This record gives sequence, structure tokens and C-alpha cells, in this order.
Amino acid sequence: MNLLGIDLGTTNSLITVQHQGKVRCIPNALGSDLTPSVVGLDDDGSILVGATAKQRLVSHPDLTASVFKRDMGTDKVVQLGKRAFRAEELSALVLRSLKADAEAFLGEPVEDVVISVPAYFHESQRRATRDAAILAGLKPVRLVNEPTAASIAYAVGRLEEEGTCLVLDLGGGTFDVTILELFDRTMEVRASAGDSQLGGEDFAKRLADLMLKENGIDPADLSAGDKAVVARMSEAAKIELTDGSTTLVECRIHGRDLAWPVSRDGFEGACGDLWSRLLLPVERALSDARLKPQDIGEVLLVGGATRMPRIHTLTRKLFGKDARTDIDPDRVVAIGAGVQAALVATNDAFGDVVMTDVCPWSLGLDLAEDTGGGSFTTGHFHPLIERNRTIPVSVSENLSALRPGQKLVELEVYQGESRQVANNKKLGTIQVKLPPKSKVKEIVEVRFTYTVDGILEVEARVDGSETLERLVIQQTPGLLGEEEIARRLTEIAHLKTAPRERAEYRDLLARLDAHFAMSLKERRQQIALAMRLLEATLESQDEDRFRPMARRVRAFLTQLDEDRGVFDFPDWAQDFDPDEDGKG
Ligand code: AMP
Repeated sequence: MNLLGIDLGTTNSLITVQHQGKVRCIPNALGSDLTPSVVGLDDDGSILVGATAKQRLVSHPDLTASVFKRDMGTDKVVQLGKRAFRAEELSALVLRSLKADAEAFLGEPVEDVVISVPAYFHESQRRATRDAAILAGLKPVRLVNEPTAASIAYAVGRLEEEGTCLVLDLGGGTFDVTILELFDRTMEVRASAGDSQLGGEDFAKRLADLMLKENGIDPADLSAGDKAVVARMSEAAKIELTDGSTTLVECRIHGRDLAWPVSRDGFEGACGDLWSRLLLPVERALSDARLKPQDIGEVLLVGGATRMPRIHTLTRKLFGKDARTDIDPDRVVAIGAGVQAALVATNDAFGDVVMTDVCPWSLGLDLAEDTGGGSFTTGHFHPLIERNRTIPVSVSENLSALRPGQKLVELEVYQGESRQVANNKKLGTIQVKLPPKSKVKEIVEVRFTYTVDGILEVEARVDGSETLERLVIQQTPGLLGEEEIARRLTEIAHLKTAPRERAEYRDLLARLDAHFAMSLKERRQQIALAMRLLEATLESQDEDRFRPMARRVRAFLTQLDEDRGVFDFPDWAQDFDPDEDGKG
């Protein structure tokens, strides 16, 4: 059975497979290898995933969810119709769709996968990603940090070389910086830093705000539909400003027809503080790795948003060299996850490269501090594993009870960088019973172990005792318990996904409809006929009829797109023989 790589992105998701020594992206039902990470409910209550769901963001905002990767590991729910969905369930539906695409492509069941996650993901976000995979019927064999995956994709084929590279990954919703060192066919992460609340969408949002401000529109007056139009137009304009220095945004909002010209300079000016926010993690990663910009051999750009020209100017200014972009920034993480999957599966498909990773956050305890005279203060963070330690790592420390005769030591485990635990993230509590009526301050040995999969295990034992307490995370917000996972697994299995043909049908129908709106007379009638025939083959629920019809409609659409004057569609329709057309 194949072991596949998955990039579960904020904006788009991809699934990859290794074939004949090369990793390739698998196309979805619509023929694209980028599946938008969007989930929606169709009018009949069935689940839509990807481009078909994305098309309905504007028309059915209440029935469509996107950008849910940001909510992984939290308790936030999104109401779609009658049902509330958690981020891991929405992600599970995206993963289930990728699984179906891969199974259709490979002709065999798919189970084992390597999934990429932002280097900056918390413990609970990683757990939520694993839960999503399980809910999708997949086995997450390993999680790999996205920048690590990207550098693996770049390093394949030149593992003999040595050097240091810095990966800048600006996706739809997250920003990661990772410094990696390649030596003796070993790839080691030296440091990673990032901002989990900064991504391409924030830049589009700035453009949207500028558009509303310059046109004197109060955002509070916008309907949900208007908001979706603004979001879509600003996203498109942002991308146009990558290639051109100006663009014109034309749309209808709040009952007004807008024609708003905007320049790249205007856009970049509106994002002033966002550019500075990009620099902070770069500086922190360099300082954690004790490196200077000139020590970096290669800068790799990952994530669609690194296409923004300002990013290239910034990296050139900072590092004095051009960044590498030769692998498509939207696909490089998925390709790297596929390479990693192949390495896990075969151990030597791509040579004996060894990878090490780092712990993205400091992990430690809330430790009481003796302030003298028998008083103590709490709330101070005592790190056991400092951020950017190479993993796997295991650290133990002996802690003393506060006073003789103390019955219980309660250790609160935190993750973060602040001296005040209140500013860090609480992961759980572990309780250690002390021997009764002890005359001395008992010593408790605490061990923190952080694995390559980003799992933290905390063990505590009273000195000289055999009893070992393991951390059981109690009521951690934003995580599902085992029973809850089992319950949701059954529920998700019963959620009806719109058939693959339906997704393709909707896509073709939407494109035909757009041409219908633009055309007149005979051409219009031909388009209407194509729509009816397509509808009829879908209703027949016979895939052998639907496929060839879809292929013909696609050819017809190519003709329409190229605006060729002459159509012979009616004759073509009469000739239609699914058996004949099914070939090839
Ligand atoms: P990802 O999460 O890596 O798929 O990144 C998606 C983000 O990249 C979205 O915010 C897109 O708007 C952005 N993006 C994609 N292509 C471009 C482009 N040509 N110029 C600017 N941003 C882009």
C-alpha cells in the first residue's frame, strides 16, 4: 500500500504520491491538484468540498466554511445548516475528499499518510490534525513541519552538498521561518519561529479595508453577500498586483457599482505594519540559531503569498541575494511531505537522509518560588525544554516539595515563552502524591520528553518510589477525548458527501452558465442544450454515461473560451455514444 504526503493548507490542500522515484501531486475530480480547503452544505444537505464549496462562499456564506485551519485545537464551532462543525471535522472532510481523489487515481485504498503542519502549531493543534486524519479514515503515520517538508523537497538530488538555508513560508493564514542545516546527508532544523496569525489573507484584508475606506463605505453596512464580494475582489486584486503595478476593481457592493483603481504602491503602503511583522520571526530565528543574514546560503520561498513582489525585495535587502522559487511555492510543501512519506515507507528511496527537527516552543512548569519566611509566589514559568532544542529530546529535573509533610505536588505544564505562565498556554496538570507524614521536603523527579511527532510526555516520580505518574491532559480546551472521537467518527461516516461527479457537474455548469450570460441567440441555445444534456446524464446516476458527456462538455467549453465562432454542438449531441466516448 502506498504511503502518501498531504499538505493540509489554510487555503488549499494537496495530496502527493511517489511514483518511479518522483513525487507527484494527485489531481482531484475537477482535474486540479489544488483543492480549496473549503467545506459547504449543498441544498440537499450533502457535503461539498473544494472548488464547488468555494463557489458558494459568495452565494451561501451561511452554509460554507473556510480558513478553519486557524481554529484547529480550539473549541470554536461553525454552524452549517443544522449541524455545528469543529475545525478538525471540517479538516476531516477535506482530508476525506483528498483520500477519495487519491483512491480514484491510484485504484487502491489509501490509509497511511504523512501530513504537514505549521512549525508553529501548538501541541493541541497537532493533536487536532491527527484527530482530523483519524476522522477521515486515515492513519497519520507522521506529522512533518511545513518548512522542513519544503526544504526536503529542495534538498532531494543534492544531498551531498552542505549549507544552511532559510525557509520563508507565507501561506494563506500562517507565517513560518525555519533555518535548516544540511551536512553529511543530515538535515537539521537549527531554529524555527513564526506568526500563526499572519498570512496572505491579512494582506487581502488590508486591500479590502482600503477599498471600503476610499469609496466611503462603512463595513458595518455590508450584508454577508457584500462581504463575500469584497473578500473575493480584494483577493483577486492582490494577486493581480503581483504581476501588474495597477489594477481596477469592478464590482457591485451595497447597491453601488464600483470601479476602483488601485496601485501596487497603494496596496504595499496599506500593509506597512504587516511587512514589519514579517521581519520579527526572521530576526528571532537568526538569533536563536546564532547566525547572521550573510551566513544563510539559500533562501527558499514557500506558500502562495510569497509571490508578492515586496517579499522578494525584502529578502534581497536582508540577505543580499535572490530567494529560490524554482519549485512552485504552492506545491513544494506537499511534494516535501510526499518525499518524507516515501522515506518513512522505504527508508532509502531517496538515500539515507536523516532528518532532525526542533521543538517550536519552550515547555515547562509553573514553579512556586520561595520568597522567604515560608511564603511562596506562583505563576512563574520554569522551562524544562527550551524552544528550538533538537528533537527527540528528553530532559529531567529534580524539584523539591515546598514543605515537609506536604501531601500532594500539583505540576501545571505550560508551553510558551513568557515568564508569566498566564501569558503561556496551559497543556495540563499532573498530580504526584507524596509519602504521608514525611519529615523532609520530598524530591520529585520530573521528566519531559518531546518526540519527533510533536508529542509531549510528562512523567513524575517521587525520589526512591516506584510509582510513576504520567501526564493525562485533563479538560484541555479544544481537544476531543477518545469517546468523543469515536462518536464523531460514526457521525462523519454518515455525512453524505456529494458524489465526485456532482462536483465536476457543478463546475462545468457554472462555467456554462457564465458563457450563457455573455452569449446571445443561437449560441445561447447551444449552451442551454449542453446544460440540459449534462443535467440528464447526472440524473441517470450512471457514471459511464456521465464521464464521456463531461469530457465533451469540457471540449465545448474550450471552444467557447477560445471564442471560436462556429459550433456544431447539436449534431455532436445526437452522435453521443457513451461506449464509444468512454474510450481514451
Ligand atoms: P497557500 O496557503 O500556500 O495556498 O497560500 C495561499 C495564499 O497565497 C493566499 O492568501 C493567496 O492569496 C496567496 N497568493 C497566491 N498566489 C498569489 C500571487 N500571485 N500573488 C500574491 N498572493 C498570492
